[in-house]
Amino acid sequence: MTAAAERLARLRVSLAASGLDAMLVSSLPNVRYLTGFSGSNGLVVVTPATCLLLTDFRYATQVKHEVAEGVRTVIESSSLWTRLWAELQQLPGTKVIAFETAHVSHQDAARFLDASSDGSRWLWRPAVNLVEVLRESKDDDELRRIREAVRIAEHALAATLPQVGPGMTELEVAGRLELALRSAGSEGFPFETIIASGARSALPHARASRQPIARGDLLLVDFGAIHAGYCSDLTRTFVVGAPPTARQLEIHTAVREANGSASALVRAGMRGRDADALARDYIHRLGFGEAFGHSLGHGIGLEVHEAPRLAKTAESPLPAGAVVTIEPGIYIEGWGGVRIEDDVVLGTDGPEVLTSFTRELLQL
Ligand code: ZN
Ligand code: ZN
Repeated sequence: MTAAAERLARLRVSLAASGLDAMLVSSLPNVRYLTGFSGSNGLVVVTPATCLLLTDFRYATQVKHEVAEGVRTVIESSSLWTRLWAELQQLPGTKVIAFETAHVSHQDAARFLDASSDGSRWLWRPAVNLVEVLRESKDDDELRRIREAVRIAEHALAATLPQVGPGMTELEVAGRLELALRSAGSEGFPFETIIASGARSALPHARASRQPIARGDLLLVDFGAIHAGYCSDLTRTFVVGAPPTARQLEIHTAVREANGSASALVRAGMRGRDADALARDYIHRLGFGEAFGHSLGHGIGLEVHEAPRLAKTAESPLPAGAVVTIEPGIYIEGWGGVRIEDDVVLGTDGPEVLTSFTRELLQL
């Protein structure tokens, strides 16, 4: 069975288990996962026997190269949604249809629900995460893509660091890193590159700014690459233009050790909250518990933030084959922050850390 056929088969099992005759997939990463289609406009309908992809004229050639066998493609030149109703009429035995409540506009959902209430032939059922759950465990092809996205990111970081010094702005560093990512083969940036220096490094999601980097500043760099649709996500924290102070070294070491022990101890089958605790308890014992205000990590794949979550509130077990980030941090307002983020595959025999860039506190 091809990877696409396997994914459709797994989705069909969960549709049957939920009493659904069909599912309308409108989330583009889910469309890509199920059909291979990477365009920006597409709707997919999956029934027990068929898989239909609707897209527009711009993608008529692309679909021939991308779309998996067994998926019927319809090119529609005016409205995908109008065409959808026409196509659904042609699918016999389709009554109860799931739609992705997190990925449909209120306007479109209102159309489904109105259509359900007036005795129409379809009953629309809101569904959450039916495809996202399937995406948690990566197959070999997905793992290859993520490994390459990690390799590109690390190569770009190594090429950028020798160019960084005091006086450069955060935006300049971001620009050089993004050029290096593109040059190394990244298709894009999974999120806005975070370059935060000095006290701004205490803002966990700082945007790069026009602030010049000062001698002795911490510099937090959080970025990723995209290869064949799949993301990597990594963070390192450096010190610029001077040896680290004792305080910088102390906090960096605490984060590095929390990262190292969580990366070594995280396991498939563990609840997300227990994985989170691997780093959180350690940081808490050192007296920095209040300064680690975000969760430990998240899945990566076609999206840079996807299931599963490694968080205090995550009750679900982490599935084998998931690729997750391990990203503890300590942030002290007005002083600065340190985060170290790695990407880890949860293998059946234990974790494998994909990121290999040094975690030492490098002086740039
Ligand atoms: Zn990150
Ligand atoms: Zn992350």
